[in-house]
Amino acid sequence: MLDGFNRKINYLRISVTDLCNFRCKYCMPEDGVCKINREDILTYEELYYITHLFVEGGVDKVRITGGEPLIRKGIIHFIEALGHIEKIKDLAMTTNGSYLKKYAKDLKKAGLDRVNISLDTLNPKTFKKLTKGDLKDVLEGIDVAFDEGLKIKINTVLLKGINDDEINNFLNLTMDRDIDVRFIEVMPIGPVADYAKEKFISGDEIIKTHNLRKIENDDISSPAKLYKLEGSRGRIGFIEPMSHNFCENCNRMRLTADGKLKPCLHSDSVVDIKTPLRKGEDIRRYIDEAMSIKPLRHHLLEGESIESAMNSIGG
Ligand code: SAM
Ligand code: SF4
Repeated sequence: MLDGFNRKINYLRISVTDLCNFRCKYCMPEDGVCKINREDILTYEELYYITHLFVEGGVDKVRITGGEPLIRKGIIHFIEALGHIEKIKDLAMTTNGSYLKKYAKDLKKAGLDRVNISLDTLNPKTFKKLTKGDLKDVLEGIDVAFDEGLKIKINTVLLKGINDDEINNFLNLTMDRDIDVRFIEVMPIGPVADYAKEKFISGDEIIKTHNLRKIENDDISSPAKLYKLEGSRGRIGFIEPMSHNFCENCNRMRLTADGKLKPCLHSDSVVDIKTPLRKGEDIRRYIDEAMSIKPLRHHLLEGESIESAMNSIGG
């Protein structure tokens, strides 16, 4: 699958729900959350069929996200079904980790290869304020997922004045276990875009004030710059969508929980595939249309930001 700029699209990110048990300040507004009507949410059968078409078109990397994917009923069976698709070489999930203690074992058994766990602070009080969730649940979830043999990346959104004094604690998480930590620049998105603008701090500011050894990234499709601490088992990554644009190597297509193909995270242009699918039409041409309208790059630095909230897209 090629987009209009000849970029190979081999990575599908599927949001299975817009609902979440957390309220991270940079992602969702605390109140007045706009919920998708339940009848508009794609069923697992629909999600499976769409994924299958993408895989036939060349996608070999699939990520399940949300909202919080682990709060949707039946998620383990869906992962299991995807786990049987041989052409998917990399089946991953992004989760806030709060239900991993309960589900990590089943996820591993169902065929999930990797989890990215979002964790922005190691301070319980800051965690509660930032997310409305409980840090203890997430830390226990990480331990269980690790013990079950899932490969783990911790995603930490950099937030000035909130967690920039905790960088060394995050770096130390890579010392004893083969767990990667990736620092991500916060992006202004949806109704909480102003929060991101206020708290932005660049990855380079952190790199230059810490003693990190640069290493090669063997995955050319990954936008992360990689580093290591001397003697550590895990690696440290920086993903800098704001200060170092990596759109030219973008290989992704997103599917929202209500059946919209979203060619770019930072553009409001979408292609509805749920309606034609439910009418029994062949949806391949809508997939082609989504490929053809994928923009060359985002325009965040020019001040543009999209209207939809991140929880409805999946990150
Ligand atoms: N609930 C799951 C979780 O938190 O991992 C999955 C969905 S969440 C929308 C996916 C990822 O997007 C998380 O790692 C989260 O930190 C990230 N994210 C959300 N809003 C963001 C923003 N404004 N800038 C950068 N990353 C953001
Ligand atoms: Fe929920 Fe994930 Fe958004 Fe936090 S980042 S509010 S956990 S969807």
